[in-house]
This record gives sequence, C-alpha cells and structure tokens, in this order.
Amino acid sequence: MSASLERGLNAFREAMDAPIASFFNSCVHCGMCADACLFHTETGDPKYTPIHKLEPLRKLWKREYTLLGRLAALLGLGETISDAELEEWSPLVYDSCTLCGRCSVACPVGNDITYMIRKMREGMAASGHAPAGLIDATRKSIELGSPMGIKPKTFLAQVHAQEEETGIEIPLDRPGVDYLVTMSSMEILGYPEYLGSLARIFKQAGISWTVSTEAYEATNSGIQIGVSDIAREIVMRIVSVAEELGVKYVISPECGHAFTALRWEGPNLIGRPYKFEVLHVLELLDQLRKEGRLKTEGKTDAALTFHDPCQIVRRGGIVAAPRSLIDMVASDFREMEDPGVYNWCCGGGGGVSAIPRAEELRYTVFKIKKRQIEGTGAGTLVTACANCRNVIEEGLEHYKMDTRVIGITELVAEYLKKDEPA
Ligand code: SF4
Ligand code: SF4
Repeated sequence: MSASLERGLNAFREAMDAPIASFFNSCVHCGMCADACLFHTETGDPKYTPIHKLEPLRKLWKREYTLLGRLAALLGLGETISDAELEEWSPLVYDSCTLCGRCSVACPVGNDITYMIRKMREGMAASGHAPAGLIDATRKSIELGSPMGIKPKTFLAQVHAQEEETGIEIPLDRPGVDYLVTMSSMEILGYPEYLGSLARIFKQAGISWTVSTEAYEATNSGIQIGVSDIAREIVMRIVSVAEELGVKYVISPECGHAFTALRWEGPNLIGRPYKFEVLHVLELLDQLRKEGRLKTEGKTDAALTFHDPCQIVRRGGIVAAPRSLIDMVASDFREMEDPGVYNWCCGGGGGVSAIPRAEELRYTVFKIKKRQIEGTGAGTLVTACANCRNVIEEGLEHYKMDTRVIGITELVAEYLKKDEPA
C-alpha cells in the first residue's frame, strides 16, 4: 500500500465518528437522495446518487467497523480500497458535489450525506486525490491569505475605490467598534460595490464598524478541499483579529460557504467558543429593518426572483430575512418553484466553481436553475452569495439568457431613504 493511500485511509478512520457509522447503518437504499441531487437529476447518471459518492468510505466502515466485515477481513475476504478507486471517486466527491445539503434534507432516515461527503474529502485530500483547481486555491489561501490570491494592496485599492464612489470613509483596523466586516474573494474582485452599499447602510443606521487589512478574506478553501488543519488556520486569522480589535460581532459576507465555515464549523475547528458573535449580513440587515434603522423609500415594479444560497438558507436557516428585505424594495417578487430550504443549488458551491475540469458538468446541471428562473418570468434575480452570483451569471451567459443578477445588500442600498444621511 502506498504511503499516500495509507494517509488517506487513516484520514477516513479519523473522520469515522458515531454519526457517520450510524448513517451507513441506517441507509435503507431507497434512492430518494438521488432525486434530490441536481447532478443526478440533470444527467440521469446513477453514479451521481449521493450515497454512492461515499462508496469507498462505506467500504472502510463495513470492513473495519462492523462484525461481519471484520470477520471477512480476518479471513482475507471482503472489499478493499485501492488508490485507483480513490482516483476514480475524486470527480464524484469534488466535481459533482457542491455540499448543497439537499440530499440530507430528502433522506427519510435523516442521514446527513453532505456531512459525510465533507468528511470524506479529508481522506481524499490526504491521499492526494483533491483536484488541481482546489489545491491551487488552497495554496494561495495559505501563502497569500486568499484563495484568489488577493493581496492587501488589492483589497485596499477596492476599499478606496468604494470610498470615492460613496463619499463615505471605510474604517480600517479600528479597535473597539461593534462590527468587523469580512468579504469573500469573489466580492472583493467581482462585486466590490457590496462594500460601498454596506457603508451607506451602516452610515444611515449609525453602526460602528471596521474592515481589517489582515483578516478581510472570509472564504475558507480548507473546508472545501477537506483539510481541517488549513480550515482551522483560516478561521483563526479572523478570530485573532476580531478578538484583538475587541469587536462584538463578525459579519459574514454574501458568501454561503464562508458563513458555514465561520459560524458553524469555526468553533469546532479551533476547539473553543469565540469571544464574539458571527452574524450573516442578511441577519444584521433584517435586524436593522426590524429596529427601524434600515429605512428605504420607493419600490421597483420590475419582476424579481430570489435564488436561495444553500449554505445560508437550507444549511444556515436564514429563510425569512432575505424575503423581508426584498419586500421592502420590490412590489413584484416571484418565488421560484421549490423555494427556500428546497431550492436547487447554483451548481458551483463547495469548491466546484474552482475546478476547471468540472466546468462542462456545471453547465449541464445549471439547467435546473435555468428552468427555475424561466418559470418565474422575472427579469432580475436577487441572491445573497457572490459565488452563486458569479456561477449564475456564467450559466446565464452560457445559455444566452438575459437576466440581471444583483446582490441583496446592493439592492436594498439602491432604495435607501434619501433624506437620511447616506
Ligand atoms: S450535497 Fe447536494 S450536490 Fe452533494 S450529493 Fe447532496 S444533493 Fe448532491
Ligand atoms: S435517501 Fe437516505 S436512506 Fe435513502 S438511499 Fe439515500 S442515504 Fe440511503
């Protein structure tokens, strides 16, 4: 057995906790997870059945964690796992899983297949079977602090551009404020107007806040590739700065996986609770709305629909907030078919959009989003995740669809009350 395979199998063993063992034990092979996964529904290929994506991990569970499996192994029987098999499974575990969580919601016995795939990636990465695109993003995260290689100089240039655009000072590294705002790589490079929109909203609401020139990046490619040590280091960069500045809240950006990493996985990764609270920006905006501190005027009568980012809505539980915020500024909001926790993924989450070899498959599975958007008749799609936004914009371009896409923070800021200081 090669050293890399041994490392991978050991990572599988480490990942094999009580929930995973019980999930394998309770699977009744009903196939309902297949109908919940866009990679299966849009290709019709049975290899994309979610529980099948875990086959090497299941084999190890059966061989080493069940009585019959252990007896078979003692007799030199039973299934083994080879390096070639892990290589074959790499596209199933990475390219065709966005960790969207829809299969976990559909499973009638409550198996959290998404959690298992996330854990299986630990063994895949340890055995050298992570895809090149994700390895590169992770390397840049370690060396440069950002999976897209954004250095502080680039971040600062975007900050200053937004200051010029809005005429509002964006506080840098300011201690003692209430909120530390983080961004995703995709926002910094592709949608920096998010920061300007927040500056306008915060000025109106009288929020004390800052961005950090060290911990501006919230994207966590350690989780996407499946290396907990790296994921921990990335979380710690934000934790250290937030605790040093003494902020009360860290604001997770319009990015689904950054929210999962920081809010749900972070404390477990670093082994202690934070000294601050993590809020998704939608939670904060909705809180300001409820307190009457987010004041808008006028509404667009253009037909709008909303794409629910999986990690924020299905996995994060933030279902009502985006709808309440859209209702403030739009008179013709149209839900897609299967909205909220049952919405379909954009097809590029969980690191899939960083994997070049997955591009064709990503466009194939985008057909479900295309049908959902077309079904609403809306000309504008609102979302709350910059990665979803980018993936959707690419899908719309691929299918030559003329739909405008906008982030929710930016949409709300467009309708801020004019007589308020902004
Ligand atoms: S998490 Fe989403 S993409 Fe991954 S297997 Fe489940 S349904 Fe499919
Ligand atoms: S839905 Fe659940 S029980 Fe059914 S095959 Fe999938 S994992 Fe097994």
